Amino acid sequence: MATSALSDKLSRLVKQMRGQARITEDNVQEMLREVRMALLEADVALPVVRDFIARVKEKALGQEVVGSLNPGQALVGIVHRELVATMGEGVSDINLAAQPPAVILMAGLQGAGKTTTTAKLAKHLIEKRKKKVLTVSGDVYRPAAIEQLKTVTKQAGAEWFPSTPDQQPVDIARAALDYARKQYFDVLLVDTAGRLAIDEAMMREIRELHAAIKPVETLFVVDAMQGQDAVNTAKAFKEALPLTGIILTKLDGDSRGGAALSVRQITGAPIKFAGTSEKIDGLEVFDAERHAGRILGMGDIVALVEQVQAGVDIDAAQKLAAKVKSGAGFDLEDFLMQLRQMKQMGGLSTLMDKMPAQVQAKAGQVDMDKAERDVRRKEGIICSMTPQERRKPEIIKATRKRRIAAGAGVHVQEVNRLLNEFEQMQTMMKKMKGGAMMKLMRRMGG
Ligand code: GDP
Repeated sequence: MATSALSDKLSRLVKQMRGQARITEDNVQEMLREVRMALLEADVALPVVRDFIARVKEKALGQEVVGSLNPGQALVGIVHRELVATMGEGVSDINLAAQPPAVILMAGLQGAGKTTTTAKLAKHLIEKRKKKVLTVSGDVYRPAAIEQLKTVTKQAGAEWFPSTPDQQPVDIARAALDYARKQYFDVLLVDTAGRLAIDEAMMREIRELHAAIKPVETLFVVDAMQGQDAVNTAKAFKEALPLTGIILTKLDGDSRGGAALSVRQITGAPIKFAGTSEKIDGLEVFDAERHAGRILGMGDIVALVEQVQAGVDIDAAQKLAAKVKSGAGFDLEDFLMQLRQMKQMGGLSTLMDKMPAQVQAKAGQVDMDKAERDVRRKEGIICSMTPQERRKPEIIKATRKRRIAAGAGVHVQEVNRLLNEFEQMQTMMKKMKGGAMMKLMRRMGG
C-alpha cells in the first residue's frame, strides 16, 4: 500500500517535537503543513484538505500533551480522530424502511463498479438481511451491461428482471417495480447507465429515473482510484440527485484512499460500503477507523498513541523525575514502577502489533512472548523482596538472593541478572537531571 508518506513525515516531526509539552501556534504550523502535504499525496482534494486542516488546527491549539506523548504524536491523534469523525459520521446499513419493495438506485460513472456492486449488494441483503431481491438494468446503451448484470445477479442468488436496449430507462424501472410488487420482493436494485465523464444528458436521465421510482436509497458508486477527480464527479452527482449514501469501490487497489474523505465531505452522504475485490463477496461495511489508518499510512500507530495516552501514569512519572532531580536516587521500587507502566500500556506484543510494518519487520527477530515473560519474571523477583531490600538493593547478598529466588520461583542467576540490569539503569539515572528523565520517559512511550 502506498501509504508511507504521512507516516514517514509525521515520524520525523514527532522526533523534532520531542520535549515540547504543548501544541502552540508556533509548533502547530509546521506540523499542519506536513499533514496538509500528506493528505494531498493521499489524493484528498485541495479544498477538502483546507477545510480539514482548519478543523484540526482549531481542535489542536493549546492542547496539553498527555503523558509520554509529544506534540507531534498528539497531533497525529487529533488528525486521526478528525478523519474518523468525518468519514464515519452517520454511517448506517442500507435503509429499507419503505413500503416494500424498497427501491435502491445505483449512480456513478461507467467503470466505477456499479454493476458489480449492485450484485454484491444483492448478496449482502439476501444473506445478512434475509431479503428477497430483484435487480434490473437501465443501461440501454450497452447491451453487454444488461447481460453482465444478469450474470452477476445469478451469482448473488437474486432474481434479474429483463430489459432491452430499445426501451426507455424509466419504462424499464416502472415495469420492474410493478413486477417486484406483485411478486412480493423486499428490495429492487436499479443499475443505471454511466458515461466515462459527466454529461448533461446522462444526468437528466438519472434525475428522471429518480423522480419516477422514488428510491429510498440513492447510492453513489465511486472508484477509490479516481483520487482527485472523484471530487468533480461527486459534485456533479450531488447536484443532480439527493444522494443518501456512498459506496467506495476498488479499495483493494493501491490507492491511498483519500477519495473517501473528499467524497464524504463534498456530498455530505455517509460512506456505507467499501468494495474490496472483483468477486461477488468483495463488499464490506465501511470502517472509518481502519480507513483513517490507511490515509495516514501508519499501521495502528494512532491506536498506540491513544493507548499511551490512556495507559501512562503521569503522576508517577513526574514523581520519579522529581526524585531523581532531588538526588534521592533510583531504587528497585522505581524500577518496578517502570516495568508495570510498560505492562499497563498493553504489553510488548500488543504494542508491537500496532507498530508500522517497517518497525515490525525490524523487530521480527525478537521473540515477543519471551520478552513479555521476562518482564513478568522481573516483576515477580522484585515483588519477592522486602521493602527495605527494594529501597537499598546493596544489602541483597547471597542469603537474601536465595530467599528471593525461591519466593519468585526462579534461579539465583536470574536475581543476579535483574540486579545487574537495575544497577546499569541506576548509573544512567544518576547521570541525568530531571528534564532528561522526562525525555527518557517520553521516549519510552513513543
Ligand atoms: P460499471 O460500469 O460502473 O457498472 O462497473 P463494473 O461493475 O462493470 O466494474 C468495472 C470493473 O471494475 C470490472 O472489471 C469490475 O470487476 C471491477 N470492480 C468493481 N468493483 C471492484 C472492487 O471493489 N475491486 C476490484 N478490484 N475491482 C472492482
